Amino acid sequence: MQGEISRMHQAGKTTKSAKSAKISYVCVDCGGAHSKWTGQCSDCGAWNTLQEFSPGPRSGAGAGHQNFTGYAGASEAVIRKLAEVPMLEIERHTTTITELDRVLGGGLVPGSVILLGGDPGIGKSTLLLQCSCVLSESMSVLYVTGEESLQQVSLRASRLSQIGKNLNVLAETEVEKILDLANQLNQSNQANQLHQAQPTMKILVIDSIQTMFTSQVQSAPGSVSQVREAAAQLVRFAKQTGTVLFLVGHVTKEGALAGPRVLEHMVDTVLYFEGQSDLRYRLVRAVKNRFGAVNEIGVFAMTDKGLKEVNNPSAIFLSSGVKEAPGSVVMVSWEGTRPLLVEVQALVDSAYSGNPRRLCVGLDQNRLAMLLAVLSRHGGVQTHDQDVFVNVVGGVKILETGSDLAMIAAIVSSLRSKPISREIIFFGEVGLSGEIRPVQSGQERLKEAAKQGFKRAIVPKQNAPKTSIPGMDIQGVSDLREALNWMK
Ligand SMILES: [Zn+2]
Repeated sequence: MQGEISRMHQAGKTTKSAKSAKISYVCVDCGGAHSKWTGQCSDCGAWNTLQEFSPGPRSGAGAGHQNFTGYAGASEAVIRKLAEVPMLEIERHTTTITELDRVLGGGLVPGSVILLGGDPGIGKSTLLLQCSCVLSESMSVLYVTGEESLQQVSLRASRLSQIGKNLNVLAETEVEKILDLANQLNQSNQANQLHQAQPTMKILVIDSIQTMFTSQVQSAPGSVSQVREAAAQLVRFAKQTGTVLFLVGHVTKEGALAGPRVLEHMVDTVLYFEGQSDLRYRLVRAVKNRFGAVNEIGVFAMTDKGLKEVNNPSAIFLSSGVKEAPGSVVMVSWEGTRPLLVEVQALVDSAYSGNPRRLCVGLDQNRLAMLLAVLSRHGGVQTHDQDVFVNVVGGVKILETGSDLAMIAAIVSSLRSKPISREIIFFGEVGLSGEIRPVQSGQERLKEAAKQGFKRAIVPKQNAPKTSIPGMDIQGVSDLREALNWMK
């Protein structure tokens, strides 16, 4: 009886709080929603990143309803059989930059929304300005800058030796004004098109979404509420008009601005710049893509003329002419739809504290701890009194488990001070019971390594091809002990 009463009491409480829960809090780093403010985000562990979030205005049923339309493209409310839905070939337009086309999944899709995130100064504006200038020759492009003045944009374009005489530029931060002007531009384009045979595709670039604001939300530009609502209005416009929308989003470490992650669920494609701004190569990785493969990477080189695409990036991260050294091995990683050869380095050194250090750059830290345990239990190689550092050369981030075997090879090589020949490549996943598991696209990885002049490969047994690859001696291994034998 008592329990029932308290349950009823609780039920009453929850409905009440649901009614009054108009304001929630959102983490500007990870986008996690919270009902109460706390100093630390319970989702990602960041401090002082929760911001008050008030959803956009919902005045009147009609106005409220409008805010939700247009997310899934044309919305005719009819239930159909799946088989009756006509299959349309996705129309794609090239950006003229092959590496950008690749991460987009083959080019621009009308009505798609692309979020381009990355650290400030890494090349987001440069890439989009280059792309806009070239595309404006054949289609209607509006570049909206909320950060730089028009003079600065023009200066940047001339520095990149881009002409862009047809590129429409606008310095504005109010979303309503931008959309008004974009609509006017569309109408005048349509009027001009009556004389032309081909309709032109429309592109809208917003640089950056954190500077934009909408008068419908009270809070300051850059706050979660503003960024989300401004993006929602722009996304709606893109879906309704078939415009390709690029949103630039800065990744901020301090949590002062809402990061791009709070927008990831609203857009079709999320691209992130990887690497540091002081390195020559920049990687653009597709983290989410409704129109292509995720984890696809595009490789660019930063030059004084802007970002230049690197067409054959499989071996750019290998240092050539370097003598073999203990702790350094080459692995073939699989990124998106192509192989990438990278060098993994390990340094194993006596630890002078009771708590030996395990540090990983470019690979998963937890995975390192796991592999060291596997190495100790199933390989008989002890590292409990050693500091272990692992690094991927060139600032590349490797996300796949195919790096396990290479990591172990590098660690063992450094521990034993025995260099591994630079003609050998490694890949393969290591399981907790010491087995070596196959990884995807083994054949293609081996072929790429052979093309780059590697002579030997130590790979999972199931990845060893049935027909031999010319010039390549392939050792298939099924467990850790077997693999360690080959490394001797
Ligand atoms: Zn968070």
